[in-house]
Amino acid sequence: MAAKEEWSISDFEIGKFIGEGKFGKVYLAREKQSGYVVALKVIFKAKLEKYRSHAHLRREIEIQHGLNHPNVLRLFAWFHDETRVFLVLEYAARGELYKLLKSLHHFSEKRAATYVSSLAGALAYCHEKHVIHRDIKPENLLLDIEGRLKIADFGWAVQSNAKRHTMCGTIDYLAPEMVEKKEHDHAVDNWTLGILCYEFLYGVPPFEAEDEYGTFRRIMKVDLKFPSSPAVSVEAKDLICKLLVKDSSKRLSLQKILKHPWIVTHADPSGSCCD
Ligand code: ATP
Ligand code: MG
Repeated sequence: MAAKEEWSISDFEIGKFIGEGKFGKVYLAREKQSGYVVALKVIFKAKLEKYRSHAHLRREIEIQHGLNHPNVLRLFAWFHDETRVFLVLEYAARGELYKLLKSLHHFSEKRAATYVSSLAGALAYCHEKHVIHRDIKPENLLLDIEGRLKIADFGWAVQSNAKRHTMCGTIDYLAPEMVEKKEHDHAVDNWTLGILCYEFLYGVPPFEAEDEYGTFRRIMKVDLKFPSSPAVSVEAKDLICKLLVKDSSKRLSLQKILKHPWIVTHADPSGSCCD
């Protein structure tokens, strides 16, 4: 798809409806000139007004547009008309990782390591650009036609060098410093990588409890337990233990995750995984 100053809806043929989020709908679309297939996210301005989310969307657009990495969903362009904002996104044909996890119950070590490695690479890239995602969870991870992982949804991301104070995200994936509303930095994404690694291998996040307060207490205690089934290798557990560390400065760095024996042995270097 060529770079172009002024896009409009007439540049696209609209295909099937893919899904719906809080602010709008997503359709498969084809750019008429190049034939390039994309996902077109249509957001209604009226909804943005209702939730006062203009600034939020602008931030999502600015952040995602500046990123270009094989494991970060591309935002190619955006435009708007009287009533709608359109985001021209890379199409992730295999949809949500979450759905795959639910249908397989838990992933093989090869698949889990491949996704953790892709995530670590993408986050290292984002952190270099001073972008902290803060809302990494299976629902925000999509898969392309080849099964490669793509981080989507930069709605909660921040671009900053400074430490942050705000509370955001879903509690199960939150680092202790975030649930306590303390200062936090890029190391919150490393914690979340540990949570995801656990969830990929066991099918459930590690600190699940009856209610939010129960989860909060388990996170604060780092009450980490490894069930006996499914069987998971010692190396995988070692990586999880080195990420779910309360002191954020002691968590394994993204570079070291990529060199961890479990990743080196199991991750598929192509990033696309079909067991
Ligand atoms: P939220 O409004 O909280 O972001 P959401 O992530 O479900 O919720 P959308 O991002 O609008 O909402 O996405 C709606 C649906 O379309 C989801 O099922 C999502 O998986 C799918 N989808 C979104 N973007 C793409 C894409 N680029 N390629 C393929 N499917 C997509
Ligand atoms: Mg979304």
